[in-house]
Amino acid sequence: MAEQLKAVKGMNDILPPDSARWEWLEEKVRALMQRYGYQNLRTPIVEPTPLFVRGLGEVTDIVEKEMYSFEDSMNGDRLTLRPENTAGVVRAVVEHSLLYDGGKRIYYMGPMFRHERPQRGRYRQFHQIGAEALGFAGPDVDAELILMCRALWQDLGLADVRLELNSLGQPDERRAHREALINYFEQHRDQLDAEAQRRLHSNPLRILDTKNPAMQALVEAAPKLMDYLGEASLAHLDAVRAVLDANGVPYRINPRLVRGMDYYNLTVFEWVTDRLGSQGTVCGGGRYDYLIEQIGGKPAPAVGWALGMERVLELLKELGTARAPKAPDVYAVVPGPQALAAAMKTVEALREQGVAVLMHAAGKDGWGSMKSQFKKADASGARVALVFGDDELARGEVAVKPLRDAGAAQSTRTLADVAAWAAELRAA
Ligand code: ATP
Ligand code: MG
Repeated sequence: MAEQLKAVKGMNDILPPDSARWEWLEEKVRALMQRYGYQNLRTPIVEPTPLFVRGLGEVTDIVEKEMYSFEDSMNGDRLTLRPENTAGVVRAVVEHSLLYDGGKRIYYMGPMFRHERPQRGRYRQFHQIGAEALGFAGPDVDAELILMCRALWQDLGLADVRLELNSLGQPDERRAHREALINYFEQHRDQLDAEAQRRLHSNPLRILDTKNPAMQALVEAAPKLMDYLGEASLAHLDAVRAVLDANGVPYRINPRLVRGMDYYNLTVFEWVTDRLGSQGTVCGGGRYDYLIEQIGGKPAPAVGWALGMERVLELLKELGTARAPKAPDVYAVVPGPQALAAAMKTVEALREQGVAVLMHAAGKDGWGSMKSQFKKADASGARVALVFGDDELARGEVAVKPLRDAGAAQSTRTLADVAAWAAELRAA
């Protein structure tokens, strides 16, 4: 036998029946986006490397150590598997002038790639769902995006996620804070790890986002950006809070919350849970009013969020809200190949009427006895078996055998008028 090949480390196959949970989540999200007026945008998985270097910031975890970057062997272009999708959405919006007639509300779903140490809730290929509102400046849209998340948790039956909120202010406010931060960390240089030492002058704000437990106390006592915010920034935050309060959305102001990319300003937020260990951030987002300009577009404000699908599904499992996969309505039992033509004609007619039919098919050991077919019918979860026996077919009929109700009697239906009885087989 040939050597068996395995998936790349940290990249997972999503198998049935688990994939049904993914589809269910995607359906809930599509319905949500429809309700809030967000439209789907799909960007390529591969983008020019400079998009992320410029967009996310050079001194960030993603750009420094997590990107899958390579050279196109045909022409030497520097390319990267997208580590996130906000930069790609902004590139597409600018490239196609989507903001020419006003703001746009956009959503996406799909795989992202980061070269991290694989562990529960942290993979090298993972999946995000994200929403972006581009071209809108007001705090109302920040609040709308947060309310959407709350609505999604409700739709999913997801409890145990709480909202943390902060403001990163504006670049000039950040400059004053940055000075204070560098001063503070310089006084505690001995407590900084190597990464923090390196970032001390290039990007001290990033130190606040450290995952090093040994530095948490130091970070906790660092100067707070909140204390450097001017009136306009505070008013923006207050307006977001007012909408959240009016809608009964609880939150905690977390002055340490800075997010992992450089593109954020003003509102930032995260939805977190204690149930997923150190991978507790389920969703994160914020305002990024300068990114569009940075990627070469006409200056325009924007705000958005992204959630990790693996983490959301993991949390649902943890909470015991796992969903049973959808079973077929009908399993078609066929004694032998002589019945196939008639059986498959009927099965097609049923499917046309919206009935989900799983058709028996031969395995490598042949067609299978009636007994083994009924076993498969049972295991499929179907409510009834349609039995295309030779005698029934000779009379132009098929037998209907209930599988879930031991007392129910078998009956027959006429093949000629499938439409008349299809509805009774269809799931309610
Ligand atoms: P973390 O702090 O856990 O590394 P992050 O700040 O890097 O997360 P974002 O870039 O904000 O994450 O991405 C938004 C969401 O995508 C995260 O809240 C998380 O749910 C999910 N996510 C990010 N990286 C991964 C990964 N490697 N594997 C699985 N999910 C991820
Ligand atoms: Mg990360």
